[in-house]
Amino acid sequence: MRLVDTHCHLFMEPLLSDVAGVLARAAARGVDRAVVPAYDPPSWLALGELAQRPEISVAVGLHPWVADAQWGAAARNDGTGIESAMDSAARCSALKHALGGLFHAGRACAVGEIGLDTKIGDEGPALDLQIEILRVQLELAVDLDRPVILHCRGAFAELLEQVQRFDGRLRGVLHAYSRGPDPANSFLAAGLHIGFGGAITRDRARRALRAATDLPLDKIVLETDAPSIGLDGVEPVDTEPQHVRDVAEALAVLRGEPLETIAEVTTGNACELFRLPS
Ligand SMILES: [Zn+2]
Repeated sequence: MRLVDTHCHLFMEPLLSDVAGVLARAAARGVDRAVVPAYDPPSWLALGELAQRPEISVAVGLHPWVADAQWGAAARNDGTGIESAMDSAARCSALKHALGGLFHAGRACAVGEIGLDTKIGDEGPALDLQIEILRVQLELAVDLDRPVILHCRGAFAELLEQVQRFDGRLRGVLHAYSRGPDPANSFLAAGLHIGFGGAITRDRARRALRAATDLPLDKIVLETDAPSIGLDGVEPVDTEPQHVRDVAEALAVLRGEPLETIAEVTTGNACELFRLPS
């Protein structure tokens, strides 16, 4: 059986200090590949060594949490060429240039993690700015023929509107999905996949359980979001790519299908979507 963790942050601790151990424990449970999305300039740079490992595919994007001046400040002296004191048009073109450079260096299979988030509180970047930063990255993904890895909290209608602008030319995944069959079906209709993780291991996550049961299996990919999201009985900080096996087992029980079928179909979906080596 082969499984893929389509979303984990191996550049974060405690995973980074033990990448070889993390990958070995994953392989022992059939998880032989991980997609690692970075979300800000420091994490883009941290991907360098991870990207050399044959089991790892990386992605780069600018997360909505850092769509404002923070990313400019963080990037100022790290060689990505993004300055903090830019107007928004200059900032968007610098972002496109910085990300484009990483793609042309052959380092990334997807644009992500990007998206919209209105639940970060008043301190977070305004939704208008998030949308502006998102749009430039969606366009880049279409230009480069890469999938996107989308994060969304509280702004599903706004995100859907942005995705629909591409009339099916955009592909990608709405990750860490925990809502019901709606709005997932609208995103499927727009050409996206849905990523399920730890939420579907919890009995009380009723909406997510229903979505995981009802959505077409050929549009589902599996993930952990380690070390940010836990599973039933596993704290976020203890979550590793190996736990995608638990997500697959939960999905098999929910759908009444053999684990082998769940693994084969979702791994095939992930390999096709991200064009992973088979
Ligand atoms: Zn993530």
